Amino acid sequence: MPTNILVFCETEGGKPRKTAFELLGKATQLAAATGGSVSAVVLGDTDTAALGAAGASTVYVASGAAFGTYVAGAWVKALQAAVTASGANVVLGAAAAIAREAFPRLSARLGAGLAVECTDLRAEGGSIVGRRPVYAGKALVDVKVTSPVALFTVRPNSFPIGASPGGSAAVVALDIGLTDADMDVVVTETLKPATQAVDLTEADRIVSGGRSLKSKESFDAIVRPLAAAAHATPGASRAAVDAGYAGHGDQVGQTGKVVNPSLYIALGISGAIQHLAGMRTSRVIVAVNKDAEAPIFQYATYGIVGDLFEVAPAIEKELAKALA
Ligand SMILES: Cc1cc2nc3c(=O)[nH]c(=O)nc-3n(C[C@H](O)[C@H](O)[C@H](O)COP(=O)(O)OP(=O)(O)OC[C@H]3O[C@@H](n4cnc5c(N)ncnc54)[C@H](O)[C@@H]3O)c2cc1C
Repeated sequence: MPTNILVFCETEGGKPRKTAFELLGKATQLAAATGGSVSAVVLGDTDTAALGAAGASTVYVASGAAFGTYVAGAWVKALQAAVTASGANVVLGAAAAIAREAFPRLSARLGAGLAVECTDLRAEGGSIVGRRPVYAGKALVDVKVTSPVALFTVRPNSFPIGASPGGSAAVVALDIGLTDADMDVVVTETLKPATQAVDLTEADRIVSGGRSLKSKESFDAIVRPLAAAAHATPGASRAAVDAGYAGHGDQVGQTGKVVNPSLYIALGISGAIQHLAGMRTSRVIVAVNKDAEAPIFQYATYGIVGDLFEVAPAIEKELAKALA
């Protein structure tokens, strides 16, 4: 059966987010393998031409006051309208704040199965199979959704952004018919972090520090400059956050953010299961720890046994030269 894939494309500052292009690229491959089609849904004003060039043949759009910031009732209703209008049997969204809340609601409304936090998708026997980590990343399972419409959320950075196939999309305005009940919970204010760094959940490179940094001053003096030199986003273990070295928004792990970068540098982090749950799928993990028996080394691609206060500045110096 052809898979007609609808990609929920999130935007920021009026532009499609990086995840939109990651998902459209993968959707284009999957649709080509099954003889299906790719369409996109975008809520709020954005550059629909870029989505067409990235592989969407139709872009469904809802705009207006309800689509400036995320409003659960209105957005889920719009997503449902897009599924109906597109005839999609597969819907993809990024496993980030909005789809994490909206897709379970959409799943309930459509009576559709949902596989969350996938790190890979493949076409098999006419349907899409999602691969997702379970048990805090200790195992991977392959999930096939058997309902007529299958929903998947996919972790950012799971797919590379390939060359744009080009092309243009037909733009279709969604007819939603919002009521007051759809606006019963609205966002009144959005507080942006002071940092200009890429959000941790979407970052391609992360440098994280642990309890061993000993103070906020040394966290700022060691972790942040290395992150800057690596063109990375700073992160932290919960112990570092609890000690006040970094904000909660920087925490990686089970009760922090789940990240999926191509490079994760862990400075003085022991590798507790709750930390691993948030970063274990990183493509390359570099661990710096003075204890050769630290659990993080079991998961590290490269391990450096040493004092982070010496090793981190040395890496920073080399990266600053290499990436200047
Ligand atoms: C319900 C629950 C949820 C949790 N959620 C999270 C979460 O989301 N994220 C998270 O991170 N944790 C979480 N935790 C806490 C987790 O169990 C660990 O306590 C925490 O991850 C430890 O942080 P750490 O590695 O920085 O500190 P530690 O475990 O104290 O490790 C410090 C490491 O630094 C090394 N070290 C010390 N000095 C140096 C040096 N000079 N140079 C190099 N290495 C050095 C040590 O050898 C050690 O391995 C959670 C715990 C619970 C119970």
